[in-house]
Order: sequence, then structure tokens, then C-alpha cells
Amino acid sequence: MSEKDLGAYREKRDFLISPEPRDGAARGESMRPIFVVQKHDASSLHYDFRLEVDGVLVSWAVPKGPSMDPSKKRLALPTDDHPLDYARFEGVIPEGQYGAGTVLVWDTGPYRNLRAEEGDGASMRESLEEGKVRIWLEGEKLRGGYTLVRMEGDKRWLLIKRSDEAADPRYDPVHAAPDSVLSGRSLEEIRAGAGSLS
Ligand code: MN
Repeated sequence: MSEKDLGAYREKRDFLISPEPRDGAARGESMRPIFVVQKHDASSLHYDFRLEVDGVLVSWAVPKGPSMDPSKKRLALPTDDHPLDYARFEGVIPEGQYGAGTVLVWDTGPYRNLRAEEGDGASMRESLEEGKVRIWLEGEKLRGGYTLVRMEGDKRWLLIKRSDEAADPRYDPVHAAPDSVLSGRSLEEIRAGAGSLS
């Protein structure tokens, strides 16, 4: 299933030119699923929000990035499923390639499916098909409950912080904590370092 899901991702890329991963090693059944948010300075800066579901990273592009404020609805545009190994990718996608620009891992960690735990028992795949995902994030920057909901009669989704103990309307992680949680690097540092790597 995951191989088929990655067709669109692979078709758009030349892996001899782009440093992005082609494949993703399957993870053990016992491992908790992860989320990742990648800051991507492409033609316009955005945040790629990805959830591990059935061996791939189901993905959305969030132009403004995630919020900790439950009153903020952040537009989330679905994009191609990505391989699991993409969750640790940071670097520079060369000029002329799909998504050309700099990528850093802005946040990552395990997540839990709240609908499976305390709601109607829906799996993540069922939640995606229905257009109603409820998750609990355990990242370094993002914590607590989030809802992803597909707008009625639309392909677009909204990413919304749920009202819980982790909500904080005064804290804006996009601006307060802009750099990579993997390497501590900024977009500028990743760009500057890319030229020196073989
Ligand atoms: Mn992107």
C-alpha cells in the first residue's frame, strides 16, 4: 500500500539531483507513530505538517504554520504522501527541482489518535477519509490536542489547536522557536552549509 501511495511523490523528483529520500524504511509495529513539521522555504515559506499513517507520511502544507491558540484556524492544503525517511530530512532541494528551497525539521515527536482512544474508535485512515482527524502531539514545540478538519465541499483542511491544558494563545512557536529541533540550525545556516557538503 505504501509503495502505491508514494507514486506521486516519486514522479515529481529526480533523486540523482535532489538529496530528498526516495524510500522510507518500515518501522516496527510496536513503535509509536510520529508527526513531523518541516519548515520549507520554497517559492513561498510554509510548514509541511506530516502524520505517519500506514507506513507513509500523510501531508499538508500549512502556510502560516501551527498555532497554540484554539481561536486560530490555520489553512492546511493536502499534498502528496511522503516516505517515512522524509521525517528526518533537512537540506536544500536544488533549483529547478520540485519544491526547490531549504527544509528544516521544525518539530517532531510521537502522536496519538484521540478518536481511537476516547472517541468513536476511528482509525487514522478512517479519520482521513471522513475529513476529521483528532490527535495529541508530543513534540518539543507542539503539545496537546489538535484537530484537522476538511472543509465542507472543499479539498482544503483547517488545522486547529484544541482547548486543553497545552493551549496558550500568548505563545507563538512559529516566531518564538524558528529553528530545527534536530540540529538547532536556522534556514540560513542550512543554506550556508549545503554548498560545503559533497
Ligand atoms: Mn513543502
